[in-house]
Amino acid sequence: MTAIDAFDIVFFGGTGDLALRKLLPALYHQDQDGNLPAQGRIICLGRSPSDTAGYVEKAHAKAKEYLGSHYNENDWTKFASRIEYLKVDAHTEADFVALAETLNKFPGRERVFYLSTAPDFFAPIAKNLAAQGLNEGNSRVVLEKPLGHDLESSNKINDEVGEYFTEKQIYRIDHYLGKEPVLNLIALRFANTLLEPLWRREWIRDVQITVTEQVGVETRADFYDKTGALRDMVQNHLLQLLTIVAMEPPASIDADAVRDEKLKVLRALKPLSVDDVKTKVVRGQYRAGAVAGKPVIGYQDEPGVPAGSKAETFVALKAEIETWRWAGVPFFLRTGKRLSERLAQIVINFREAPTSIFGKNLGQPNRLVIELQPDESVRLYLLAKEPGNQTRLRQVYLDLDFKETFATRSPEAYERLLMDVIRGDLSLFVRRDEQQAAWRWVEPIIESWETSPEGPKTYTAGTWGPAASSALLSRDGLCWYEEA
Ligand code: NAP
Repeated sequence: MTAIDAFDIVFFGGTGDLALRKLLPALYHQDQDGNLPAQGRIICLGRSPSDTAGYVEKAHAKAKEYLGSHYNENDWTKFASRIEYLKVDAHTEADFVALAETLNKFPGRERVFYLSTAPDFFAPIAKNLAAQGLNEGNSRVVLEKPLGHDLESSNKINDEVGEYFTEKQIYRIDHYLGKEPVLNLIALRFANTLLEPLWRREWIRDVQITVTEQVGVETRADFYDKTGALRDMVQNHLLQLLTIVAMEPPASIDADAVRDEKLKVLRALKPLSVDDVKTKVVRGQYRAGAVAGKPVIGYQDEPGVPAGSKAETFVALKAEIETWRWAGVPFFLRTGKRLSERLAQIVINFREAPTSIFGKNLGQPNRLVIELQPDESVRLYLLAKEPGNQTRLRQVYLDLDFKETFATRSPEAYERLLMDVIRGDLSLFVRRDEQQAAWRWVEPIIESWETSPEGPKTYTAGTWGPAASSALLSRDGLCWYEEA
């Protein structure tokens, strides 16, 4: 791993939820682990006038809350000495003059501009940075999601930022790609010979990718109602996970080699017609119910949701990849809010044995289950004989539980990704053509929904979504993992 040189990381949106809850704690952890060089500054920006001490006090309170048992007073004091606060409004040129002065005190450093703001500010920020020459040299810019709400708007943002930063300087973040089990899936697939011969249509029956939440829209109804689950989760996180499962072995771990393979998968996704959307995509919206034993209101009654909203809080869909490796293997993707469990999981279901010497109805096929949250693990399910005089088979698993196996703290996704940006490694960031291909694939779904007189199907909060989600799989004679 390349050592990290002196760096300046600048957080636009430094006063926001993401910076305080995830980004600063991620860097704190890396500092605590001794991975940040002494000459590393963290410059946090917001629009309110404040001095650094005032900002650090606020950041401290939040960090303490989120770091929990990892918080240590001395480590925090050392870490906080890296932080500076500046007042910078995306539209105010003079603020960027002050930012340039601060940065130019240490020329030649690795420079990261992390745009943790609404995407409307990406273009003015990029322009104002360039006006001060801050897009030159070792400068990088990190773009948070959502990058637009369709292909056209995402192209517009990319064009605007692309006027001032080259593609090699642009890091489009998808934090699911920084999760340890996802990185481990890459290692599992490409560092072992065991799986590769099986990783294809002849041996894999179906793939299920699930990312579910128990929470509702919380205080973000305004944003969520315009976005919905398809744009918020499927277009980016779920399709990215699908590419990691389905990509061909890259020629190297080099960023473009990996991203070329992911792009090929996105381009090989069978396009959906308007009619396909009716049979292969399910959209849902939660009504009142109970989650984890507590009654909760329905989406329509959430504060800030417009009456009669058709926003989807749930999506399940069947994707197909038209390649020799994957033709005929359905990839089922599912995401939603106010569901039974908070879960992020990839399930690879292998085909059942073609014939059995142990009689019929053996039960479950072999499966590989990769859990991303709440726990991080990889489990390979096999059938084994129970001890005793009779031959009774039972499903057991080989378990790679990260906590137990490695006995070390598993870093948060943002830790890995922030370190990658600082060291200039683009492998785990989304290239523009990947993003375009993903938008192109989901656009017919958006169009079909916008023109359909039907709204989303409702589901009771605390369940696994509308009944149509189970029906989607049962049409192929399959069921979701938790129903098996
Ligand atoms: P947030 O809490 O609403 O914070 C927004 C930030 O933007 C604030 O720091 C605000 O600064 C700054 N800002 C607003 N207007 C500005 C302007 N004219 N010039 C410069 N800065 C301005 O939002 P967030 O939750 O941190 O999310 C930030 C971005 O990350 C959003 O695009 C969001 O969709 C994305 N994201 C967030 C999460 C998450 O977990 N929160 C996860 C994934 C992606 P002041 O108000 O202090 O001036």
